[in-house]
Amino acid sequence: MQHTIPVDQLGPTGAGMARAVEQCVHCGFCLPTCPTYVTLGEEMDSPRGRIVLMKSALEGAITAEGTQPFVDRCLGCMACVTACPSGVRYGELLMPYRARTEKTRPRTLSEKLTRTLVRETLPYPRRFRLAASAGKLAAPLQRLLPRLLPPSLSAMLALLPDRLPPATALPLVYPAEGKRRARVALLSGCVQQVLAPDINWATLRVLAHHGIEVVIPQGQGCCGSLMMHTGEDEIARHFARRNLRTFPHDVDAIVTNAAGCGSGMKEYGLLFKGCTEEVEARAFAGHVRDVSEFLADFDGAYALTPTIASEPLAKPIRLAYHDACHLAHAQGVVDAPRRLLQSIPNLTLVDIPEGELCCGSAGTYNVEQPSLADSIGRRKAQNILRVEPDAVAAGNIGCIVQIRMQLARLHKPLPVLHTIEVLDRAYRHSEIAAA
Ligand code: SF4
Ligand code: SF4
Repeated sequence: MQHTIPVDQLGPTGAGMARAVEQCVHCGFCLPTCPTYVTLGEEMDSPRGRIVLMKSALEGAITAEGTQPFVDRCLGCMACVTACPSGVRYGELLMPYRARTEKTRPRTLSEKLTRTLVRETLPYPRRFRLAASAGKLAAPLQRLLPRLLPPSLSAMLALLPDRLPPATALPLVYPAEGKRRARVALLSGCVQQVLAPDINWATLRVLAHHGIEVVIPQGQGCCGSLMMHTGEDEIARHFARRNLRTFPHDVDAIVTNAAGCGSGMKEYGLLFKGCTEEVEARAFAGHVRDVSEFLADFDGAYALTPTIASEPLAKPIRLAYHDACHLAHAQGVVDAPRRLLQSIPNLTLVDIPEGELCCGSAGTYNVEQPSLADSIGRRKAQNILRVEPDAVAAGNIGCIVQIRMQLARLHKPLPVLHTIEVLDRAYRHSEIAAA
């Protein structure tokens, strides 16, 4: 697409933004994979439409304010990137565009409150635990007086489980079983530590089982992905700098078990583009691996030998695998989790219809766009139920929480586990379909 974007005035990310516009040939191949276009049927809520809108605003033909409703409704799922035959790197346009416009846009009091609550609680496990506990206390009140809270806060409460699992501190080092074959550093995550701490423990056990020592660097913090997603790039860099300082360099990989965090950390080069830390950030990003990616690639012959589950499971299981957008589309990790899961005897892996569509979680999307997130999530749950699985697996806590909630709303609850939890249960010969 031709344009008159003043690239020189846009700073270090200008060239990437202009390139995404130039490469879009308006073909529309991305449309059926875009959850907002599929749900709303509006051109301006499609990838192609949003590219035109952002281009026009960058050229000065329309105001940024006019683009906001459509850009805000974008989940940042990157399904359009996977579908695009022209190689449009939509994220290189969306992320800097959001960061530019976020600085000047007016926000309502309710939006400001929600953003502050998200910013001041989610990245801090202790604060989030306190806030979540307080939220659970307020839940009955919310049921009695449904208009008491703004929709965004109601959506946050709905995502919380009935009971929070107890907090458990992770060790500094989790040793490999037998001969040490590799050493990795684990990002312990924020929300996941509070809502599903067993995902980290399952990760430690599975990696150790494969001869991989895991260090959990003290002083690490939020990866900054949530803030990158909402255009708050200064805050995102603040968090990311802490991790650049904290993670060791002498490890085989920086491993994460949350797809949202992994995709954010792999974007540190873009986040720090033009900053003094750019080279360091690119090196860090090049070291980041999703746990499924690392395991499946790590000494493949070893990782996928019968040690996975030397005896068939006591009970055969039909498992639906959900591709988290930030794993499949943003990181291109599609085969690795499937290879790992398919190595478990007695486990039948089934694909979910319309699998390329997001579940509606997408960072803080289900809080900021609760109504649309609910429609998109319901569609995902209905598609899952069509293949009649015994359980569901995904590689991202946001998807796990969203899918669990949506299945419950349809009165068809199923166990929804992290991929690594399924492996862990297989190794321990325990019941995979137990919630
Ligand atoms: S990132 Fe997702 S929601 Fe946004 S335009 Fe692309 S496909 Fe649509
Ligand atoms: S598929 Fe790619 S080139 Fe075609 S309209 Fe979508 S973004 Fe543009």
